Amino acid sequence: MKAKKILFAAATLTAGALMLSACGGGGGGSGSGEGGGDGGLIGVAMPTKSSERWIQDGDAVKAALEEQGYSVDLQYAEDDIPTQVSQIENMITKGAEALIVASIDGTTLSEVLQNAADADIPVIAYDRLIRDSENVDYYASFDNFVVGQQQAWSVLNGLGLVELDGTPIEGAPEGPFNIELFAGSPDDNNATFFWNGAMDVLEPLIDDGTLVVKSGQTSFEQAATLRWDGETAQSRMEDILTASYSDGTQVDAVLSPYDGISRGIISALEGAGYSVGAEWPIISGQDAEIDSVKAIVAGEQYATIFKDTRELAKVAVDMAVALLQGEEPEVNNTTDYDNGVKVVPSYLLDPVIVVKDNIQETLIDSGYWTEEEIDG
Ligand code: BGC
Repeated sequence: MKAKKILFAAATLTAGALMLSACGGGGGGSGSGEGGGDGGLIGVAMPTKSSERWIQDGDAVKAALEEQGYSVDLQYAEDDIPTQVSQIENMITKGAEALIVASIDGTTLSEVLQNAADADIPVIAYDRLIRDSENVDYYASFDNFVVGQQQAWSVLNGLGLVELDGTPIEGAPEGPFNIELFAGSPDDNNATFFWNGAMDVLEPLIDDGTLVVKSGQTSFEQAATLRWDGETAQSRMEDILTASYSDGTQVDAVLSPYDGISRGIISALEGAGYSVGAEWPIISGQDAEIDSVKAIVAGEQYATIFKDTRELAKVAVDMAVALLQGEEPEVNNTTDYDNGVKVVPSYLLDPVIVVKDNIQETLIDSGYWTEEEIDG
């Protein structure tokens, strides 16, 4: 690996401009091209630009790699699986020395990752576990089961039942409360982790009658939202409101696994005549997207889960750099992320619940969003 790097650096010095233009372009989709550097090329495959977080992730990974002297081929696949496969194929052809991949469908990359392994290219699964392949070396993510628990706790907190850390509140109202449940994309390994974490908290309360799911849709398959699509969620929520709430009963809470889905749910509620105020339901979320932080300030969304993409980028980049330098990346979990072929050694960061009262402390003080961005 070392010799290869020195050779690469020499080639870069003598033919820097040539190399940059030779590496230009992408495998379709919307790529952000490469930055310069003499540490070799690293391929970064992101799922889509339609969600703000992946743009922040891509930018942060690119910046951190460039800071360490690497060139970066950053590509977005607009949630199209064949595009992502060909983008990764292209990165291998261009001589990428490592790959950092946030997959669209965690099960569709086995073949292209075999090609990477054949070319001796290490692969880091970024945020989403890549399944069904032995050629995934490391996994950088957040504790996804805890994210699900936090989403459920945030909903229960909004209903006055628990503190944000799940501790029961004494003298809490007895309910029953009507709740509807949404899950993420069934092809994303994270979606089941979020769901299982949330249901770990909610199921006992559904069983004892504190929470009532009037639609009866309590399975992951029924609640899932392909590609995390907000419009899909909106139309499912519209159907639920029509079928189960036309008798004048109110939805009190909605478990939502992602801010984009929450916005779809909010639109459906507004369309059905709900307005922010006493009868407005408690809605969870994830990613602290700016529009949803604004929605929290406006009282439309109750909470989101903040996963600092800058920290995640740092972990993934440290993993790649360690591997390229022949060192062992730091991990803190070697048991939970079985991808169907092997348990992938992981580093998991801690997610944080955001509600109106702690926006300053969680998002503004950390420099993730400025006050102007939130108020603007
Ligand atoms: C990520 C979430 C994100 C979702 C939709 C998941 O894999 O972990 O942060 O909300 O994808 O993009």
